[in-house]
Amino acid sequence: MNTNESSSSVSDFDEPEIHSEVETMRHSCAHIMAHAIRKLYPKAKFGIGPTIENGFYYDVDFGPDFKLTPEDLPKIEKEMAKVIKANAPFVRQDHPIQEAIETFKSWGQNYKVEIIQALAAKGETTVSTYQEGMFTDLCRGPHVKAAGDIKAFKLMSVAGAYWRGKETNPMLTRIYGTAFTTQAELEEYVNAIEEAKKRDHRKLGKELDLFSFHPEAPSSPFFHPKGTVIYNRLVQYVRDLYGPYEYEEIITPQILDVALWHKSGHYANYKENMYFTQIDEREFAVKPMNCPASTFVYASQKRSYRDLPLRLADFGRLHRYEKSGVTAGLTRVRTFCQDDAHIFCTPEQIEIEIKRTVNMILRTYEMFGFDDVKVYLSTRPEKRVGSDQLWDTAESSLKRVLDGMGRPYTVNAGDGAFYGPKIDFNVRDALKRYHQLGTVQLDFNLPDRFDLNYTASDNAAHRPVMVHRAVLGSLERFIGVFIEHCAGAFPFWLSPLQARIVPIDKAAHGEYAHKFREQLRGIGVRVDVDDRNESMGLKTREAQIAKIPFALVAGGREMEGGQFAVRKYGEKESKVMTKDEILTLFRELNALPDKVTKRAPSDEA
Ligand SMILES: [Zn+2]
Ligand SMILES: [Zn+2]
Repeated sequence: MNTNESSSSVSDFDEPEIHSEVETMRHSCAHIMAHAIRKLYPKAKFGIGPTIENGFYYDVDFGPDFKLTPEDLPKIEKEMAKVIKANAPFVRQDHPIQEAIETFKSWGQNYKVEIIQALAAKGETTVSTYQEGMFTDLCRGPHVKAAGDIKAFKLMSVAGAYWRGKETNPMLTRIYGTAFTTQAELEEYVNAIEEAKKRDHRKLGKELDLFSFHPEAPSSPFFHPKGTVIYNRLVQYVRDLYGPYEYEEIITPQILDVALWHKSGHYANYKENMYFTQIDEREFAVKPMNCPASTFVYASQKRSYRDLPLRLADFGRLHRYEKSGVTAGLTRVRTFCQDDAHIFCTPEQIEIEIKRTVNMILRTYEMFGFDDVKVYLSTRPEKRVGSDQLWDTAESSLKRVLDGMGRPYTVNAGDGAFYGPKIDFNVRDALKRYHQLGTVQLDFNLPDRFDLNYTASDNAAHRPVMVHRAVLGSLERFIGVFIEHCAGAFPFWLSPLQARIVPIDKAAHGEYAHKFREQLRGIGVRVDVDDRNESMGLKTREAQIAKIPFALVAGGREMEGGQFAVRKYGEKESKVMTKDEILTLFRELNALPDKVTKRAPSDEA
């Protein structure tokens, strides 16, 4: 039901615990950095310095007269190298808590004093410190044996952070760094960060003119014509799957009476994320999910077991309130559309329906080039609805389907929703980052709440099971993920502009270029002509920057032979092709997703 990831934050003084060896080294590196800073800036006061994913940070107060900038980082790194070379051991000491308060007070470390006082208030009687050379820091450890155990490190960036995250507190300087066991690993990581910056979908979205954001609709994307082409192609791709997989599409209202959301349970559990509006003195809510509306279509007529499974797809636009602090480009937005569907089936049909859905999801990821897919099965939690018998049937069906796939999956015991078990799909992108996309969730709750029935072969009324499922998940989020995966160089069929024709001389070859453009548009190719009076060098460079899959260049020789010099994006050499050859090639490339969608589901059984 919910495909957005939740965010977490480090709050208060509860630094995350250190688990792995590399985390121990990174945290020790934070001490070394503080040590170096104290040597260079004797007045510096230290806040907290935890490890984070892929590194560490330390919050430092440099006082009102100094502002640290990224240009200062190499100087600190140099000092750190000296501290590491000295190779002093990390020595742990335990202190009575009052004594520790006095010591840190005498050093002017008022943030540390505050931390220890908070521990004292919690009833702690002792605290530990770690000394490394001439530098002692409050810490619970663990640490590497000596400073020299830090093999490869780098300071990454500088940011501002309020002490304890409170705006009324002083702003400290947060310095981010990382450490690795080898120099090669460190370099690989730093390169990946650089590559991620280049591929940032917010940056590419602007450069490629795909979408924009405006304060009038916070965290809600405006898709430009080019972005809309991608969006619509994705919808079309999924829609084309609905033929062979036998889905029917429905369209349901955007705004529904609050009474419905009370009945569905969203009002009690999800109100904070919903938008409300009042019309005719009735209270309505903008839908955050399609599920309840789909039950109305199900219940609009008497259902028998012969009608099942009933697969209802809905590309409805959804609105969910997200705090502005956690929104980031397309990956977390307030309005989005899922390639959503709800399957109503009998308990006996669960297994085959899950199998079809899993196949549909995996063949789709394969087509997008996501060949590393992590699959998670989440099973019954403590608090749940539905009989144990129903959970048994559902969980064993899901397990059988996943076992039959012949690929590994992870069981997250107890992590299922209260209303049913689920399977989640995470894909690995070109930068080796995992993103959650698809989900298949069984639901024993909504059919109860909306009193859904079907007549079984015994002529009695039974409850159907409901399956929520999405393949790409939120289209907005998928577009964000995919832009970064392909670095904005979309496959031909998805590309907003698929080809650009460049006549060498407008007067001589312009008409030839425009005529072929017409012909290409006739077979559904998105193509333009660049006949500006600019140099060929500039025009081909611009086509590269726009990441257009093909540039077709025409001069006198090409025109005579009914040809074009065809240059594929990312390749240095062109290849001379006839117009017919180009038409055939483009037809084939445009039909790629059809080949995937038109395969019958039974091909994979
Ligand atoms: Zn420490
Ligand atoms: Zn749903």
